[in-house]
Amino acid sequence: MKLFSKFKLQGGRAGRILVHDQSRDGYLEWEMLARDLDMEIFGNACSWERPTLQAMSKEDVLRLAEELADEMKIRLEVTFSGESAAVFPKAWQAEHDRQFYESLGPESSTDLCKHPECQFGRISHSGLCRQHHFESINGRRYPVQ
Ligand SMILES: [Zn+2]
Repeated sequence: MKLFSKFKLQGGRAGRILVHDQSRDGYLEWEMLARDLDMEIFGNACSWERPTLQAMSKEDVLRLAEELADEMKIRLEVTFSGESAAVFPKAWQAEHDRQFYESLGPESSTDLCKHPECQFGRISHSGLCRQHHFESINGRRYPVQ
Protein backbone atom coordinates (compact mmCIF):
# COMPACT_ATOMS: atom_id res chain seq x y z
CA MET A 1 0.00 0.00 0.00
CA LYS A 2 1.18 3.46 -0.86
CA LEU A 3 1.18 5.69 2.18
CA PHE A 4 1.93 8.94 0.47
CA SER A 5 -0.17 8.99 -2.65
CA LYS A 6 -0.14 12.32 -4.45
CA PHE A 7 -3.92 11.99 -5.01
CA LYS A 8 -6.72 12.12 -2.47
CA LEU A 9 -10.20 11.41 -3.79
CA GLN A 10 -13.08 13.42 -2.38
CA GLY A 11 -16.77 12.89 -3.09
CA GLY A 12 -18.88 9.89 -4.03
CA ARG A 13 -19.97 10.31 -7.64
CA ALA A 14 -18.43 13.72 -8.26
CA GLY A 15 -16.14 16.08 -6.44
CA ARG A 16 -12.48 16.98 -6.22
CA ILE A 17 -9.29 15.02 -6.28
CA LEU A 18 -6.71 16.80 -4.18
CA VAL A 19 -3.26 16.75 -5.75
CA HIS A 20 0.11 17.21 -4.17
CA ASP A 21 2.64 17.48 -6.99
CA GLN A 22 6.22 18.29 -5.95
CA SER A 23 5.88 21.68 -4.27
CA ARG A 24 2.40 22.46 -5.53
CA ASP A 25 -1.09 21.69 -4.19
CA GLY A 26 -4.20 21.79 -6.28
CA TYR A 27 -7.25 19.85 -7.30
CA LEU A 28 -8.92 18.13 -10.25
CA GLU A 29 -12.70 18.34 -10.69
CA TRP A 30 -14.21 14.94 -11.50
CA GLU A 31 -17.47 13.15 -12.07
CA MET A 32 -18.23 9.45 -12.37
CA LEU A 33 -19.39 8.32 -15.82
CA ALA A 34 -21.99 5.70 -16.65
CA ARG A 35 -20.53 5.20 -20.13
CA ASP A 36 -17.59 2.99 -21.07
CA LEU A 37 -15.11 5.30 -19.32
CA ASP A 38 -15.02 5.42 -15.55
CA MET A 39 -14.44 9.05 -14.69
CA GLU A 40 -14.48 12.46 -16.34
CA ILE A 41 -11.99 15.18 -15.44
CA PHE A 42 -13.12 18.73 -16.18
CA GLY A 43 -9.88 20.36 -17.25
CA ASN A 44 -11.17 23.91 -17.26
CA ALA A 45 -12.20 23.64 -13.59
CA CYS A 46 -8.87 22.21 -12.35
CA SER A 47 -6.68 24.58 -10.41
CA TRP A 48 -3.49 24.99 -8.43
CA GLU A 49 -4.07 26.55 -5.03
CA ARG A 50 -0.58 26.69 -3.50
CA PRO A 51 1.87 28.34 -3.70
CA THR A 52 -0.16 30.53 -6.04
CA LEU A 53 -3.75 30.33 -7.19
CA GLN A 54 -3.82 29.62 -10.92
CA ALA A 55 -5.70 27.51 -13.44
CA MET A 56 -3.95 24.27 -14.39
CA SER A 57 -2.49 24.08 -17.86
CA LYS A 58 -3.77 21.42 -20.24
CA GLU A 59 -0.35 19.72 -20.01
CA ASP A 60 -0.58 19.54 -16.21
CA VAL A 61 -4.11 18.15 -16.29
CA LEU A 62 -3.24 15.48 -18.87
CA ARG A 63 -0.06 14.46 -17.07
CA LEU A 64 -1.87 14.16 -13.73
CA ALA A 65 -4.76 12.27 -15.38
CA GLU A 66 -2.26 9.74 -16.80
CA GLU A 67 -0.74 9.19 -13.37
CA LEU A 68 -4.19 8.94 -11.79
CA ALA A 69 -5.40 6.40 -14.38
CA ASP A 70 -2.29 4.33 -13.73
CA GLU A 71 -2.54 4.51 -9.96
CA MET A 72 -6.28 3.80 -9.73
CA LYS A 73 -6.42 1.42 -12.74
CA ILE A 74 -9.33 3.30 -14.24
CA ARG A 75 -10.22 4.84 -17.59
CA LEU A 76 -10.61 8.60 -17.68
CA GLU A 77 -12.06 11.11 -20.05
CA VAL A 78 -10.36 14.50 -19.87
CA THR A 79 -12.29 17.42 -21.31
CA PHE A 80 -10.61 20.73 -21.91
CA SER A 81 -12.16 23.68 -23.80
CA GLY A 82 -14.62 21.43 -25.61
CA GLU A 83 -12.03 18.82 -26.61
CA SER A 84 -11.88 15.48 -24.91
CA ALA A 85 -9.27 12.74 -24.67
CA ALA A 86 -9.46 9.23 -23.24
CA VAL A 87 -6.70 8.29 -20.79
CA PHE A 88 -6.00 4.69 -19.79
CA PRO A 89 -3.54 3.00 -17.42
CA LYS A 90 -0.30 2.46 -19.37
CA ALA A 91 -0.77 -1.29 -19.76
CA TRP A 92 -4.29 -0.78 -21.13
CA GLN A 93 -3.15 2.08 -23.33
CA ALA A 94 -0.72 -0.24 -25.10
CA GLU A 95 -3.50 -2.74 -25.79
CA HIS A 96 -5.90 0.03 -26.85
CA ASP A 97 -3.24 1.39 -29.25
CA ARG A 98 -2.58 -2.06 -30.69
CA GLN A 99 -6.27 -2.72 -31.34
CA PHE A 100 -6.69 0.66 -32.99
CA TYR A 101 -3.59 0.19 -35.13
CA GLU A 102 -4.67 -3.30 -36.21
CA SER A 103 -8.15 -1.99 -37.06
CA LEU A 104 -6.70 0.38 -39.66
CA GLY A 105 -6.28 -2.50 -42.12
CA PRO A 106 -3.65 -3.07 -44.81
CA GLU A 107 -1.72 -0.35 -46.65
CA SER A 108 -2.18 0.08 -50.40
CA SER A 109 0.53 -1.32 -52.65
CA THR A 110 -0.16 1.38 -55.29
CA ASP A 111 -1.27 4.62 -53.56
CA LEU A 112 1.36 6.26 -51.35
CA CYS A 113 0.71 7.99 -48.04
CA LYS A 114 0.34 11.75 -48.62
CA HIS A 115 2.71 12.62 -45.78
CA PRO A 116 5.86 14.20 -47.32
CA GLU A 117 8.67 11.69 -47.90
CA CYS A 118 6.67 8.73 -46.58
CA GLN A 119 7.18 5.58 -48.63
CA PHE A 120 4.35 3.52 -47.18
CA GLY A 121 1.00 2.98 -48.87
CA ARG A 122 -2.17 4.69 -47.65
CA ILE A 123 -4.90 2.77 -45.82
CA SER A 124 -8.33 2.46 -47.41
CA HIS A 125 -10.22 5.17 -45.46
CA SER A 126 -7.44 7.73 -45.19
CA GLY A 127 -4.86 9.46 -47.35
CA LEU A 128 -2.24 8.34 -44.87
CA CYS A 129 -0.36 5.15 -44.02
CA ARG A 130 -1.12 3.36 -40.76
CA GLN A 131 1.62 5.07 -38.75
CA HIS A 132 0.79 8.57 -40.02
CA HIS A 133 -2.95 7.99 -39.58
CA PHE A 134 -2.34 6.80 -36.03
CA GLU A 135 -0.20 9.88 -35.38
CA SER A 136 -2.80 12.27 -36.81
CA ILE A 137 -5.50 10.84 -34.52
CA ASN A 138 -3.48 10.39 -31.32
CA GLY A 139 -0.87 13.13 -31.60
CA ARG A 140 2.00 10.62 -31.09
CA ARG A 141 3.58 7.74 -32.95
CA TYR A 142 2.50 4.14 -32.61
CA PRO A 143 5.13 2.83 -30.15
CA VAL A 144 6.17 -0.30 -32.12
CA GLN A 145 8.30 -0.53 -35.33
ZN1 LIG B 1 2.94 7.70 -44.00
